[in-house]
Amino acid sequence: MRLCRFDDQRLGLVRGELVHDVSAALERLPAVRYPLPSYDPLVAALPQLRQEIEILGKSAKGRPLSAVKLLSPVANPGKIIAAPVNYRKHLEEALADKGIHHGKLVEEIHKIGMFLKATSSLVGPGEGVRLVKTERRNDHEVELAVVIGREGRNIPKAKALEHVAGYCIGLDITIRGPEERSLRKSVDSYSVLGPWLVTADEFGDPSNVQVGIKVNGALRQDANTSDLVMPIPELIEYMSAFYSLRPGDVIMTGTPQGVGPIRPGDSMEAWIDRVGAMTVAVSAA
Ligand code: MN
Repeated sequence: MRLCRFDDQRLGLVRGELVHDVSAALERLPAVRYPLPSYDPLVAALPQLRQEIEILGKSAKGRPLSAVKLLSPVANPGKIIAAPVNYRKHLEEALADKGIHHGKLVEEIHKIGMFLKATSSLVGPGEGVRLVKTERRNDHEVELAVVIGREGRNIPKAKALEHVAGYCIGLDITIRGPEERSLRKSVDSYSVLGPWLVTADEFGDPSNVQVGIKVNGALRQDANTSDLVMPIPELIEYMSAFYSLRPGDVIMTGTPQGVGPIRPGDSMEAWIDRVGAMTVAVSAA
């Protein structure tokens, strides 16, 4: 199943090039009262809602995907977790380029672990990236994004994929420079998730998928998740030893070699096998 959010907070079932409005399924979600939950209620309820979404999708007339504004498929992630330099060749390019490492030691993921991006940085492809500090280098990073579906702590890697609701394309937009990653990567609109959530049963094995991005039609990144230094089950085992993972939490699994600058006016096209592709416009904030 492919689920998107679009236009004015509508929920959509994607089939081919069409989106079917299944927003009526949102009426089934429990009414929330303050304090709000620290997880995404829709992702948490997906196992119970799937059948109704399928039924609604059959009767809803399809609209062309090209005619809707795609939002982030996850509305309320409790946290956005990201893996630093998790591809061997990206580690090599980061060590070789002072414009990327800025004199800081780029260490392996096993030593430095993960970092967090502010949830306020999250947008969908239809909203675009709005750059700040345009006198500095702002880079694209395309990544396979994992959405957690089931709560867990100390999850062994053998069970890790049972906690995954689905997969999306993630863009971890980054200002290069000396500040902490969490600051440079948490600017409003610097986390893009889209174009839709492909549920784990439909997506299948995440260990061998091609991930890529073009900027203005020129190929920048094109790699395979089989080259991840820390594969997805290990990432989940590692991070869940520190914090609980909850439905809707997003994991950006790291970017491969080929990161490069983007500027206002650019157009990014990113793709991942078995997810699809999304186009994201870049402007100045
Ligand atoms: Mn990244």
